[in-house]
Formats: sequence, C-alpha cells, structure tokens
Amino acid sequence: MDANTETKRKRIGTRCVHAGELRGLYGAPHSPIFNSTTFAFADTRSLLEVVDGIKKGPLYTRYGMNPTIVSLEEKLAALEGAESALVFCSGMAAESAVLLGSGARRVVCLGDAYGGTLELLAVNLSQLGIQTAFLKGDDFEGLQSEINQGASLVFLESPTNPTLEIIDIKKVAAIAHAGGASVVVDNTFATPINQSPLALGADLVVHSATKYLGGHSDITAGAVMGDEQRIAPLRLWRKNLGSVPAPETCALLSRSIKTLHVRVDWQNRSAQAIAEAMEVHPAVRRVLYPGLPSFTGYALAVSQMRGMGGMLTLDLFAEDASPFVDRLELFLIAPSLGGAESLVTQPVTTTHHGLSEVERARRGITGSMVRFSIGLEDPQDLIEDLRSALEAVGRK
Ligand code: PLP
Repeated sequence: MDANTETKRKRIGTRCVHAGELRGLYGAPHSPIFNSTTFAFADTRSLLEVVDGIKKGPLYTRYGMNPTIVSLEEKLAALEGAESALVFCSGMAAESAVLLGSGARRVVCLGDAYGGTLELLAVNLSQLGIQTAFLKGDDFEGLQSEINQGASLVFLESPTNPTLEIIDIKKVAAIAHAGGASVVVDNTFATPINQSPLALGADLVVHSATKYLGGHSDITAGAVMGDEQRIAPLRLWRKNLGSVPAPETCALLSRSIKTLHVRVDWQNRSAQAIAEAMEVHPAVRRVLYPGLPSFTGYALAVSQMRGMGGMLTLDLFAEDASPFVDRLELFLIAPSLGGAESLVTQPVTTTHHGLSEVERARRGITGSMVRFSIGLEDPQDLIEDLRSALEAVGRK
C-alpha cells in the first residue's frame, strides 16, 4: 500500500495534514509549487504514453496535469472520503462544471442556496434549456413528482444559506436513487470536518474552497469530490472550460487545509457560545443555529453532522438590521465566510440582493436577518461586540 492510500485510512485531522503531500524531494514537508505550464519528455514514446493515458504524469497545467494540482486533489479527495477530486478556479466554476457535465435537462434545487447558485440555475442554465424546479428542503412529495417527470439531478446545500435549514441528505438520496437521479451536495457551510455527504448517500460533493478550506479570505477556488466514474467526465469539462486554478493557489490551499480541523473545531465552539448568548438577548427574535435545541433542524443536524459549524443567523425584532450591523466593530461587513476574521452580512444586501421581494419573502429572508461567519477571534470579545451593537437597535 502506498503512503497516500495509508493516509486516506487515518482520522480526518491526520488526513488534513498529510494526505496528498509530495514527499521525498529534499525532505520538504510541504509539496513544492510547480509553476510550469508545460512538462517536457525524453522522447515521443514517453510523451504519447501520458497523452494516451497509459501512464499518469505531468503534461499541461490547464489540463490539471501538474504535480502541485494533483497533490491538492489527493488531499481534497481524502477529506471527503472520496475516490477522486477536482479543483477549480472558484466554487461557481466547480458548480458550473457539475451542472453542465451531468447532462441533466431537468434539475431539482432543494431548499435555499447561495444566490449565485440560484442565478446560475434560474438564468444561465435555463437559457440552455435546462429547467430547474426550486422546492422547499422538506418537500419530498414534490421531489418524487419531479423525479417521476424526468429530473435527473438534485442539488442541495445543508445547512442552507442563510437560514441554516438542515436537509435530510439520506432521505433525499434514497428518493433520488430509486428514480435513477443523482444527488449533489454543496458542503461549503458544513466543511468535511463536520459532515460527510458521500457517506450519507450523495453522489458528488462541491465546495467553494474560497471559504473554510482556504480559511484566510485570500484564495478563490472550488472543488468537486466523488467516485472516479463521475469525476472523469468533469475533468474534460474543466479542461475545455479552462477553469483550473493556478499552481500557486493550489499550494496555498493545501497549506490552509493542514489547519482546517483546528480552525473548524474552534469556529464550532465559538459559534455555539455566541448562539447561546444571543438566544437570551431581548433584542433578538430568533437565533438560527443548528446547535441550539430550540432550532427546528436540531435533531436532524445531530444525526447527520459531527459539528454544527461557524455560521449563524440572527433575526432581530428591529425591521431594519443595518444600524446594528453598522455599529459592530470586530465583525467586518463583507459577503463571504469561513475566514479567520468574523464577517457579518445582511442577505438582503448581498447574497440574496438579486432576488425579487416576493422570492425573498417565499424563502423567509427579511431585512431583520443578519448572517455571521464566526472567525478565530476570542468568542467573548465577539459576544461583547454583539451586545454593544444590539444596544443601537433596542429591545423588543
Ligand atoms: N456555495 C456557497 C455555499 C457559497 O457561499 C458560495 C459563495 O459565497 C459559492 C458556492 C460560490 O463560491 P465562489 O465564490 O468560490 O465561486
């Protein structure tokens, strides 16, 4: 058994540190960065062996055939317990390849999703004749009926963005598979530390690696993980869409993943402490956080997640939450998540800004909602910042 296969059997923290690393070159603990766009061969025969897939090896960086990229992909596959992984230049590039590459003409999007995903499905893919049914996360009858009418791909996030709804991945996979459809789960919010969608029955996992995997708000990347049989066709899509990331980005991402388990563990504990403190605050109508027993999806979250994540949403009594947001000092007002710095965003001004009032109302997204990405600061300082900004909007 080679060292990488051995590492894939270890616990997740060990996989974060060791999986995929190219060891053996001068004893360097971290894989070197191969910036070359192309790779030379001793003779034509050796070139053809790689071109024809008889031998694995570096060839051309846009094809993903570059040792730094392949090393990262080994690590990404190990994180999700997958056979294979592909890295992309953004989360949206990964999603586009999956949705285009599936060949599906009818898609079901279950529950809420990132605004860009909704736009891709509703605008871009519909221009290509790919129809999407947007259903509630627990509308299993609707799902069954869509599958009966030929839907062949089900896309979902869990927890969802921004209401943190938990969707029953096992149940969705059972319904989809019985009707011959595939299930793709965006695991960005949960991270591979907290949730393993493939083990719950999903066929592919996608990530915006820009978020927790990158973890420092300085990398834009995406990833797809699954069986080689499903990943292989997507490799061709990535090659011809040209959506491979640069080797420097891949090296930075590999470096970040080495601390993923430590960061996520801290963020899980911090978010839980903040959620508990906010739940009893008189200016807060609801705290949407899967780790609170009062949260609708709590029991399901406990059954399918190992940790509850660093994302939480507050629903204030105040109709407009912007004075509160503007008073926060430690939280940066920015539309992303998963970094070392805590971020705050109002879904109505960022992620879901492009949706109509009616559509937002249907999804339960209001101006009184504020979404937080809890970073790596001391949670006590964050709680103090939240309490002092809440003074601005007053009590019930
Ligand atoms: N999926 C989720 C859950 C996201 O939050 C985002 C971006 O915010 C994306 C996908 C898209 O990722 P990227 O910005 O890396 O293209």
